[in-house]
Parts: sequence; C-alpha cells; structure tokens
Amino acid sequence: MDPENSLGRPLLTEQALSGQIDLHCHSTASDGILSPTALVSRAKSAGVTLLALTDHDTVAGIDEAEAEARVQELTLLPGIELTALWGRRVVHIVGLNVDRRAAALVQAIGRRDQLRRERAQQIAERLEKRGFAGALAGAQMLAGEGVIGRPHFARWMVEAGHVSDSGKAFKRYLGAGKIGDVTVPWPDMVETVAAIRGAGGAAVLAHPLKYGLTRTKLRALLVDFCAAAGDAVEVVCGQQNPVQTREILGLLDQAAASDGESGRLLASLGSDFHQPDQPWRALGCVRLPAGVEPVWNLWQTGADQVQ
Ligand SMILES: [Zn+2]
Ligand SMILES: [Zn+2]
Repeated sequence: MDPENSLGRPLLTEQALSGQIDLHCHSTASDGILSPTALVSRAKSAGVTLLALTDHDTVAGIDEAEAEARVQELTLLPGIELTALWGRRVVHIVGLNVDRRAAALVQAIGRRDQLRRERAQQIAERLEKRGFAGALAGAQMLAGEGVIGRPHFARWMVEAGHVSDSGKAFKRYLGAGKIGDVTVPWPDMVETVAAIRGAGGAAVLAHPLKYGLTRTKLRALLVDFCAAAGDAVEVVCGQQNPVQTREILGLLDQAAASDGESGRLLASLGSDFHQPDQPWRALGCVRLPAGVEPVWNLWQTGADQVQ
C-alpha cells in the first residue's frame, strides 16, 4: 500500500509512475459498465500502475475501487468528472486526488445530484408522452443505486426493443435537439474549479476537442480555464491522432502566452474508459507526448497542494 498524506490520499511512489497511467475512467457508479472492483482489476491487467476513477458527478465508487487497488497493489487517485457550464456550453472538469469529504466537493456533488434527478424526470416525462412507457423505472434499474444519465435511457430503449442500439437512441430521441435533450442549469466552470481546488484536488479540463468548438472558442475556453485557476488540460484522451495532440499542445502554448501570471497549464491524460467493447478508449491506452509537464508533478513530492 502506498503511504498517505494527512488528508488520507495516496502519495505517488516510483512504482505508481512505473507503468501505464490513466487518469480518467468510469465505473457503474456513473455510466460505466464495470463495477469499481472489476474496473481496477482490468486496469491492473492492462499494466496500469496509477489510476484515477473519475465518475460523472459522484465519488460513490471510490471506496470500493480503493479496496481493490490495495489488493491489486495499484495506486488509485480519488477523482470525479464534474459537469459544468462555460457560458451556455457544457464542459467537463475532472478533479484529481480530491478529498471526497471536503465540504466544497460534497456541496458540488449534491447540487448536481439534484439537477440530474430533475433532468431524468423531465426526460422520462417527454419519452412517456411519446409512448415509451416505463422509461424512468427502466433507466433507474440500469443505473442501480447510481444517478440516471442519458446513456441509461439509451440502454433501456435498446433492451425494451424500441431501438436497435444506443447510438440510434441518441440520434432519434436523446441527442442534441431531440426530445430528450433537456437543458440543465449546471454550475458554472469557475465555481466548479473552485470546488475541486477547495477539496485539495487538481482541476483538469477534460477532452478539449470533444466540445465541437472552433479553434477561436477553444482558445477562449483555455484562457478562461487558466484564469479560473484550472491546473491542467487533458492533452491525450482515448485513442487520439498525433495531429490532434499537437493541436492541443499549440492551444496550451497560446493560453500560456496570453496569461503569463497564472503560469502554464499542466498536461493530463486518460482513456475515458466506459466499457470493454470500445477499443478506442481502452484502459491504459494513453501516453503523454514528450516535453510536457505532467499533472502528477503536483503530487510527486508528497506535499499537500497549495490552494
Ligand atoms: Zn467527459
Ligand atoms: Zn469521462
């Protein structure tokens, strides 16, 4: 077992950094298919030595993942992926090495839990009006004790025989502009970064190329994220071609140039693993390019993070 700091979170050992590093993945605590135990065991088999479990808006899987990480002798960073708004756009902010009992984080999770429940209710009402009876109960069953997300509705629609696969469920009913696309007033990015940092964690802007933003908008997002005291950006997320990686690195340079005071954003990486049958986001499939400063440098010394 790794030594722990005063907050009960793991410090990084040489062994933790000796294999594959994956700082973004999902379990059944949110919309992943594997239980935290199965996820950690699969990560170990994939050569991962440092793993962050980052379920959407919940830390409910962390205790179980930590227990299995001790068995597998793998270092597990408690993490989360918080949904937030940048202007009117939804962005995802990963929190790494968070103190999950910190009031700031507990509050951030509670607010999103409420918003997700309200959204699930609204999506179900709309689907039921369209003739898909039993949507809420069906999605809840698939979510288990977790919070219902759109993927649960999609899977229910497949299982109930309404569509042939999840992709179609999104295309016809749940995706942007469809009846199940309910607008949610997620908390703002600035307060989201503050909640993560208030819980002693590092705030990472997840998958910057997946928001459908123009280069100009992306640059503006990075500058705002930097100004909000964000720590790092996912330079690599899942299988990604080198052109995309270079593009993100270029954006980081530009953000640093336009915001000299808060310094440079660090680099993070993760598979965004959800399920075993998606090889483009397999656990441990990611590697940082040379020449970047990795986010784990924040913890290597073992010092508690400065707020
Ligand atoms: Zn995400
Ligand atoms: Zn994710």
